[in-house]
Order: sequence, then structure tokens, then C-alpha cells
Amino acid sequence: MAQLSEEQLKALNLKVQEIAKLPPEEQAEKAQELLTPEEMEFLKEQQAIRGQGGGCVFCGIAQGKIPTKVVYEDNDFIAFLSKDPANPGHTFLAPKEHIPILVKLPDALAGKLSILLRNISAAVFDAANAQGITILQQNGQAAGQTIPHMVFNIIPRFDGDKVVIDLPNTDLKEEDMLEFQKRIIENVKKFEAATAPGAKPEDAKPKKPIKFRGRGP
Ligand SMILES: [Zn+2]
Repeated sequence: MAQLSEEQLKALNLKVQEIAKLPPEEQAEKAQELLTPEEMEFLKEQQAIRGQGGGCVFCGIAQGKIPTKVVYEDNDFIAFLSKDPANPGHTFLAPKEHIPILVKLPDALAGKLSILLRNISAAVFDAANAQGITILQQNGQAAGQTIPHMVFNIIPRFDGDKVVIDLPNTDLKEEDMLEFQKRIIENVKKFEAATAPGAKPEDAKPKKPIKFRGRGP
């Protein structure tokens, strides 16, 4: 097994993130350029481990094939400590089933999830003696999701900690705001109808991409 120090792992993570931003056809070339032979070897071994989880690291963890520090587990969900915590106590909560993004979560699990999020975030808050909690959930590569298995990050927060979640202010014209209000109201209704018993959630997917008037997307 290739062994990397924590520093080396962080450096590798940054490189992998840079590669993941590229279109798939450019990724192999960039990997050759950026990664050392040792890093390539390490990634291959990691992929082999993930293979035991059906190609997904969170499935591997849920099936107990990848060792991790579990803090909660039932038939549907598992919560475990992040190996690279943003702050001490950083915990992941994921469905055991391979559900790629939140919108694919069935109603039966969605209700349970909100109760677990409340309970586990309270447990993490107390255990870390935290001053706050950030709950972060990313859907899609553009949102920073790196593993296609939905997960909630439960991150204890402290005054002056190094976690940066920087939300820019985007100026929108009043007419654009009204348009978004209208579209979202309509889509909520569509989604409610599409997630009713017997319906398929895919039906609720907006059929055309959202465009901004007078601005690039
Ligand atoms: Zn999975």
C-alpha cells in the first residue's frame, strides 16, 4: 500500500479537485501532468478499495467494507466522522442506499432524514462543545460534490475558526426576482405532484435551463 502523509494527502486532494473541474476528456492528460507516480499508485489503490463498495466510497462505508468511525447507524442511514475534518467533530450523514443527490431521496427517507439531522447535529454540537453548527449539502459537481452519493456535512463551528463559506451577493433586477419567484412557486407544485405516491420524481425536473435576462448564467 502506498502511504502518504497528511500533508501529501492534502496536496493530492487539491490536485484531484483541480482535475475534477476539467471536462472528462481532459482529465487523464492533466492527471499525467500533475500527479507523481506515488500519487497515481495511491489513487489506484483507493479505487480498488472503492470497488469493494460497488464503485462508491460511501456505499463501501455503508456496507462496512471500508472502515470508518461510525457515530450512528440504522437500516437506512449511517453517520461517521470525516477523515479530513474541517473542525474537530465534523460528521457525515448519508443514506445507506446509493442515492446520488438530495432530489432523488424518497419521501420515506426524507422525513426520517430531517429528524436525524436535528438529533445528530445536536449531538455533534454538544460533543464538540461548539458555538455553532454549519450543515452543508452539495448536489452536483458545480456545487462541489466530489462523490456521487448524497451526504450532509455536519460541521461544528467556533468563533474565528478557519472554515470559509463565502456567499457572494449577486445583483438581480426586480423583474428577474419576480420571474424566479414565479418559476420556483410553479416548480414546487410540480415537484409535490411528481413525488405523490406512484409518481416519479424525475417528472419534476425543470424542462428548460434557467436563463438570466441581460446577464450570463
Ligand atoms: Zn454510493
